Amino acid sequence: MTDVADPPRTNFIRQIIEADLASDKHERIVTRFPPEPNGYLHIGHAKSIVLNFGLAESFGGTCNLRFDDTNPHKEDLEFVESIEADVRWLGFDWGDRPFFASDYFEQLYGYAIELIEKGLAFVCDLDAEEMRAYRGTLTEPGRDSPFRNRSVAENLDLFARMRAGEFPEGSRTLRARIDMASPNINLRDPVLYRIKHGVVHHQTGTAWCLYPTYDYSHPISDALEGVTHSICTLEFEDHRPLYDWCVENVSVPCRPRQIEFSRLNLEYTVMSKRRLTELVAEGQVEGWDDPRMPTIAALRRRGYTAASIRDFCERIGVTKSDNLVELSLLESAIRDDLDASAPRRMAVLRPLKVVLTNYPADRVESLEVRNHPKDEGMGVRSVPFGRELYIDRQDFAEDPPKGFKRLVPGGEVRLRNAYVIRCDELVKDAQGGIRELRATLDLDTLGRSPQGRKVKGVIHWVSVAHGIPAEVRLYERLFRVPTPGAGGSDYRSDLNPGSRRLLEDCVLEPALKGVQPGEGFQFEREGYFVADPDSTPGRPVFNLTVGLRDTWGKSQK
Ligand code: ATP
Ligand code: MG
Repeated sequence: MTDVADPPRTNFIRQIIEADLASDKHERIVTRFPPEPNGYLHIGHAKSIVLNFGLAESFGGTCNLRFDDTNPHKEDLEFVESIEADVRWLGFDWGDRPFFASDYFEQLYGYAIELIEKGLAFVCDLDAEEMRAYRGTLTEPGRDSPFRNRSVAENLDLFARMRAGEFPEGSRTLRARIDMASPNINLRDPVLYRIKHGVVHHQTGTAWCLYPTYDYSHPISDALEGVTHSICTLEFEDHRPLYDWCVENVSVPCRPRQIEFSRLNLEYTVMSKRRLTELVAEGQVEGWDDPRMPTIAALRRRGYTAASIRDFCERIGVTKSDNLVELSLLESAIRDDLDASAPRRMAVLRPLKVVLTNYPADRVESLEVRNHPKDEGMGVRSVPFGRELYIDRQDFAEDPPKGFKRLVPGGEVRLRNAYVIRCDELVKDAQGGIRELRATLDLDTLGRSPQGRKVKGVIHWVSVAHGIPAEVRLYERLFRVPTPGAGGSDYRSDLNPGSRRLLEDCVLEPALKGVQPGEGFQFEREGYFVADPDSTPGRPVFNLTVGLRDTWGKSQK
């Protein structure tokens, strides 16, 4: 991989860290990436991963992978495993072992007792609906819960019995005792613990029926791990006072600082895990790793390299302002990578047979062709040439539009890496469709310009006798509009019905025989493609990674 990365661009978080190190506030920094294992990671998570692991890397600190597994209903071991695989694939390392917020359940419980003893938490018997009514609004203060002034002893007793499973789900919560009149709703006696029965947690099994909320468990987990900079997305800005309240009021070993940045929003994409889960569950896509999805697993299957995703994350930068990133930026990151690294091959996606009538039927030439036009180090391969070839149907026009430079009746075209041919005759089937072409080749034009005439067009081809049958899957954007579901419409109505096209009768040059899933190539004149895990030894399956040029800008906007 040609990965001579530029030094990371500076941003406001780097500046905070530099200042903290310069002032000896911290000797070493510790960050963390805290996914909830309730779905696969997506490109937005990659931004957070590259930021958190990247900061640790460049400042000589560490970054923890910590599963925020406090909501067992939607969590699953499948997601834990996919998240580990994706972070590793992106090129990051979290050391000895992953951490789980559930590792700290006992400690979190202990700190809750500390809060109760300090008069800073109480057991509340309001149900969810009553609690909402008491909470107030943005313009009106809330009202104190009637259970707010329970004695410490009663709170301790009830909390222990909540843990012991004596009370039904939803009947009681543990709440912080802060300020029901606070202008910040997050500080109006927020819930710290809720009861959940009948779920088996993927890490702790049935040991607990009491689960901490994110707002309570997150700051304390950070503190227990010695996290110095707890970086999260902007929607948590209003939660920061509660974050600080938690680490100030329990005897944790350190006081991490929460810093918010703006999340990645990408055009033509939905990124919320709820929606991605729906797309999978409803069969709108083939699975979490359907190459049209914005998940890391899908991008990998699509042929994106880890380096290109890291590069994209560097290019978009880190700020506090909301933004919508153009999809073409992601595409140009992978295109730049593959332009340099992908070997070239010829593949005919919509085959049309051409018979070269002046070329002997028993003759086969081996043409030596370079694997990369700009990188001699990538070597050469031989490509067989014979009397019968396939060209792409789109490279022939019986009735050419103006400016058409490829093959037309009576016209000439150069076969890439080979000869110039002239189309003499069309052979049609009973329905009037073109079955094959008859052409003659000019033997004098191998690696040479034809004498006394100009041939502008160059098309690719594959020998009929040597080609390998293959399936190619073409992809377009999953959604037709830049912000699916904008204006309150159902995002599903913005799905692009033509987002996947299967071409089942493609023919590849024989050098692609035995290709392994994950191997990527440029199919000349078509784009970048990668072999899919669905490939079988006799029949490769290729996914379109990205086209050769950014054609979207012109045709779709
Ligand atoms: P969603 O909102 O899609 O359901 P989430 O933010 O709840 O996802 P988590 O698993 O909690 O998903 O996310 C783990 C980390 O990744 C969090 O620190 C979160 O801030 C960050 N993250 C999630 N989505 C994005 C995004 N689009 N851009 C940047 N960071 C993100
Ligand atoms: Mg979350």
